[in-house]
Amino acid sequence: MKLPVFKMYIDGKWVNSHSEETFQKINPATEKLVGVFQKGNKEDVKKAVNAAERAFEKWSEIPAPKRGKILLKVAQLLEQNKENLAKELTEEMGKVLAEARGDIQEAIDMAEYIAGEGRRLFGRTTTSELKDKFAMTVRDPIGVVGCITPWNFPIAIPSWKIFPALVCGNTIVFKPSSDTPRCAVKFVEILEKAGIPKGVINLVTGGGNEVGMEIVRNKGIRMISFTGHRDTGKEILRQAGIKKVSLELGSKNVIIIMDDADLNLALEGVLWGAFGTAGQRCTAASRVIVAKDLKSKFEKMLLEKASKLKLGYGLNKGIDIGPLINKAALEKVHSYTEIGKKEGAKLLTGGKRSGTKGFFYLPTIFTDVSPYMRIFQEEIFGPTTAIFSCKNFDEAIEAANSVEYGLSFSIYTKNINNAFKAIKKLQSGIVYINAPTIGAEIHLPFGGIKNSGFSREGGWTAIEEFTNEKTVYIDFSGKLQKAQIDLD
Ligand code: NDP
Repeated sequence: MKLPVFKMYIDGKWVNSHSEETFQKINPATEKLVGVFQKGNKEDVKKAVNAAERAFEKWSEIPAPKRGKILLKVAQLLEQNKENLAKELTEEMGKVLAEARGDIQEAIDMAEYIAGEGRRLFGRTTTSELKDKFAMTVRDPIGVVGCITPWNFPIAIPSWKIFPALVCGNTIVFKPSSDTPRCAVKFVEILEKAGIPKGVINLVTGGGNEVGMEIVRNKGIRMISFTGHRDTGKEILRQAGIKKVSLELGSKNVIIIMDDADLNLALEGVLWGAFGTAGQRCTAASRVIVAKDLKSKFEKMLLEKASKLKLGYGLNKGIDIGPLINKAALEKVHSYTEIGKKEGAKLLTGGKRSGTKGFFYLPTIFTDVSPYMRIFQEEIFGPTTAIFSCKNFDEAIEAANSVEYGLSFSIYTKNINNAFKAIKKLQSGIVYINAPTIGAEIHLPFGGIKNSGFSREGGWTAIEEFTNEKTVYIDFSGKLQKAQIDLD
């Protein structure tokens, strides 16, 4: 069968790469080829940046509420195409179909929410220290924004960046993950159909080192919005020069289960948090800290439930866990099983590949883990979780915070004092009480601390991310007034 060939989108046209080179991509569940994609290079990025710079002048002049209205059209088109898009997403990355639908729904929600933010690009007014002088701030677009995204939520993550950036008046050069280029093409097709003018959104597919790095270094790009691995984020900071950089990086999230917790509820939370999306989430719960007295009961319950989870291609019925994204991911996840064993942790279940076709890995649970172990400290990005049993609340918090990351931490407890103490003491950008580490909603800020990055996407903070706040002084005294000098 002839493979479909997908193009890049630059200056309102679907084009081949400058070099005419292409790359192929397989479905990680079936190992069948998905399509042929353009292997962009620096020249393609330069063309995309030029187009985005040209388009900026007109786009940024359109009143923000009108820019928002185009996103309502985007939401409508996403809704109409939801089922097809979800199917295509699963065909590209194997994901469980219900989760693929969730991915599209998140983008619909974001488009609807952020469209309204076009009417709320609020600045502030305040008093001046001088008489007959007015002080305020207004929000300006930043310019051309380079959006570099990972593969695990190939429609939702681009929407968290591109939709708010557009409403704020920026133009875009978008580089998706090489593991999900087809979803990116479909996403941009929707924007095109919705009527986004030419040059406002540009898609360049191709490798991180070539296309990604050129976007990071290019002087025409005024902001980088990146989601991905910690090490890529560090390299981007080194190479970006003086431009705004926003980073959403990895994490090592935790679910704490105190001795007063509703154990059944916590168990459901761990199953979803640790094994949903095969653990391939920046918010995955790859650590569980459980009160000593509950340890053996909890482990028994978890084992029983985990052993019933069904692995397979996300398009098939009754599947709980899809594949890992590629062979390298399978090898990486398995290397952590070996590390865990060598460190002396006890492998309760899993620890190996499932089947020989597709990159499936069994839900893997380690127990008797100590906080210093690498399987407790490092991001694995697979269906592996590590259990540490704690003596008390303080020890749980200390272990939770012992990692270099801080994105999404959770605690199950009925003790209101401990719940509030946890909100205060947990070192993470997001805290859940009696809910798992997964469950972010688009109208609240999302982002981490420590090595999980520093940006805040979503919510009202999305507007802050994608605008410059300009300070304006208006002196209506008719005379020269000197701040800090005219003291009377
Ligand atoms: P990577 O960092 O490997 O890749 C992310 C994107 O960066 C891809 O488009 C990639 O391109 C590109 N890239 C790679 N190298 C460079 C470079 N030198 N310069 C510029 N761009 C580059 O991450 P993954 O795709 O593997 O995603 C998994 C990671 O993302 C995990 O660490 C996860 O925790 C994190 N993540 C964080 C989220 C958050 O919101 N905090 C949400 C989701 C994931 P290419 O694919 O061509 O290599």
